[in-house]
Amino acid sequence: MLQPADLSPIPRSEAPRDCPLCPRLVSLREELRCEQPNWWNAPVPAFGDADAWLAIVGLAPGRRGANRTGRPFTGDYSGEIFYSTLTKFKLAQGTYRGEADDDVRLVGTIVLNAVKCLPPGNRPLPGEVANCRNYLESSLALLPKVRVIVALGQIAHGSATRALKLMPANVKFAHGAERAAADGRILLASYHCSRQNTNTGRLTKEMFESIFERAKELRQ
Ligand code: SF4
Repeated sequence: MLQPADLSPIPRSEAPRDCPLCPRLVSLREELRCEQPNWWNAPVPAFGDADAWLAIVGLAPGRRGANRTGRPFTGDYSGEIFYSTLTKFKLAQGTYRGEADDDVRLVGTIVLNAVKCLPPGNRPLPGEVANCRNYLESSLALLPKVRVIVALGQIAHGSATRALKLMPANVKFAHGAERAAADGRILLASYHCSRQNTNTGRLTKEMFESIFERAKELRQ
C-alpha cells in the first residue's frame, strides 16, 4: 500500500475520495463501502462559506454522522447542539434535519476537520492527524478572511496549533483558552460538543455558547 512518504506533498484543501495516506482508515473505509454502500464512506470535505471569518475545526467524522451523510456534524447527536448553537449566533441559517440535503447554510463560517476520514472508535492516531494536517493547512491558506479558529477538543486543537505554526508546548488546551498566531489569527479552544461531554456536564449549552459569543467579539 502507498505510504505517506511515497506521495509528494501537493497542497490542496480537499482530499481525493480514495486518499491513501492512512492505511488503517482506508481499511475501515473500504469495509464500510461494502457493508453500507449508500453511505458517504470517504474523506469529508469542508462545509460552509468560502468568505468565512470563522473556521471551526472538529475532530473527525462520526460513523453514522458525517461518514454516513458526507457533511460535518450532520446525522448524529453532536450535530443537534452544533447547528442549533450556530443558528442562535446567526452563523447558520435554515433548518437542520440531520441530512446533507437539508437547507442549512453557514454564514461567515466554515467547518473543517482535523481528520477527514472515520477513525475506529473516534480515536485517530497521531500519525493520521499529522497526515491530514496538510489538508487543514491548505484549507486555512485558502481562507484569507478567517480571523478566528475555534478548535473542538484537544486533538483538533493540537492540530490547529501546528497548522497555525504555534509552538504546541506554549499552547495549552482549556475550554475558552485563546492564542494569537503570528499572522494575527486567534485560536480559541472549546470542549467538543460530543454526547460524552454534554451528557456528563463537562460541556454545557452555556459553555458552548460562550465560545461563539467570544468568537464574535474577537472578530472586531
Ligand atoms: S484522514 Fe486525511 S490524510 Fe488520512 S486517508 Fe483520510 S483524507 Fe487522507
